[in-house]
Amino acid sequence: MKKTDICIVGAGPGGAATALKLSHLNIPCILVDKAIFPRDKICGDAISGKAATILRRIDPAIMERFNADLSMQTDIWGIRFVSPNNRVVEVPYRVGYNPKTDEKQGYVSKRIDFDNWLVDEVKRRDNIELHEGISIDNYEKTESGYRISNKDQSFDVEARILIVANGANSNFSRHHAGLEKDEKHHAGAVRAYYRNVTGMHPDGFIELHFLKEINPGYLWIFPLPGGYANVGLGMRTDYISKRRYNLKTGLTDLLERHPELRERFKNAELQGKITGYGLPLGSKKRQLSGDHFMLIGDAGHLIDPLSGEGIGNAIYSGVIAAELAQQCFEKNDFSAKFMEAYDVRVARVLGKEMEISYRLQQMMARPWLVNFLANVAARNRGLIDTISKMYTDMDVRKKALNPLFWGKILMGKKV
Ligand SMILES: Cc1cc2nc3c(=O)[nH]c(=O)nc-3n(C[C@H](O)[C@H](O)[C@H](O)COP(=O)(O)OP(=O)(O)OC[C@H]3O[C@@H](n4cnc5c(N)ncnc54)[C@H](O)[C@@H]3O)c2cc1C
Repeated sequence: MKKTDICIVGAGPGGAATALKLSHLNIPCILVDKAIFPRDKICGDAISGKAATILRRIDPAIMERFNADLSMQTDIWGIRFVSPNNRVVEVPYRVGYNPKTDEKQGYVSKRIDFDNWLVDEVKRRDNIELHEGISIDNYEKTESGYRISNKDQSFDVEARILIVANGANSNFSRHHAGLEKDEKHHAGAVRAYYRNVTGMHPDGFIELHFLKEINPGYLWIFPLPGGYANVGLGMRTDYISKRRYNLKTGLTDLLERHPELRERFKNAELQGKITGYGLPLGSKKRQLSGDHFMLIGDAGHLIDPLSGEGIGNAIYSGVIAAELAQQCFEKNDFSAKFMEAYDVRVARVLGKEMEISYRLQQMMARPWLVNFLANVAARNRGLIDTISKMYTDMDVRKKALNPLFWGKILMGKKV
């Protein structure tokens, strides 16, 4: 058995970012993943500005290298919303944006490429020991940390800090940390790759279709390089269960029958299969740490309940975990009480956002309200500008929960 200070289980965006942050803090770690990269991950492939910002904070050169590889990503400048009454509202991320000169606001990049690129970043660092193709099946609490091993014990490590980043189906989260799946705070989604979808926005806006047929879920179309698109459908799990809704047939039916979509997908070719996976949402507060361990990303149920965005939060929580790990070693304290500072910090940076997104998720489940807002937005530039600001400005998001805020906008007043 090998003894080490920190072992991270899972080298997706959360685990890889944690390892990179630790590396830049001069703290060596072991990073282990059951897959051999490049590996696929079922996802919408949208990488938010938040993810890019946090990676840049770890080291600006990381995003410089990503931006230099133009074959891997589509730059995204806004969102095209389609309401249940089929009204189209296009909202740029930034009012008056200029794709040639502005800092990029977001990307769509196939996870097989993005995650592999991030693992390549890990491989550039000489203080991260990366193990691929090893599935961690055993966790044993010891006096000084956790003993972690695979089935045949060829990997057998005792770590003072265990960072759990092994995604939505984390066995540790469920069986050791007690995070149960709660269908009201969980979503299911399917995605497929298509080629030759027509009618995409010239500046690569991502598309969210809140169609009445799938309310309260939504369908997405995200542009990828080379004429490809990531197309998917997601819905909260309690609604899926109640209706016994089949997301795969729901998606194909819509693409074949919905008047606008049918036209746009008439010559589109499905690449591979339609596949699905779960999204543990951050709309319910969970305990994310304990004696000698922290849960990050999907393993900590940290996906945004409105947008389904989890990559940025996985990266963000990983950076917070790395910083806390540094303090644990400084103070030589790995107790649950000390580790609780991780929960406090995650709540401070993501808590309000999750709360607001959850309230907005509930609002979006009312088709009449979405139709009403879409109708108003179609005639009111001020509303579109306000929604643009909601992406980047938390204060505007907070204000959006107050009905008076919307009243002022509808009357054309400044907010
Ligand atoms: C259909 C769908 C669409 C989505 N769309 C988006 C989107 O467009 N944008 C967005 O930001 N988020 C999206 N999400 C959410 C996003 O995919 C996740 O939030 C994100 O992948 C979380 O990163 P992570 O590092 O926590 O976990 P993961 O990316 O799941 O990585 C976990 C890693 O752990 C490894 N692992 C698992 N078990 C073990 C084990 N026993 N031993 C060792 N290693 C193990 C896996 O191989 C994997 O590499 C979507 C999710 C789904 C399902």
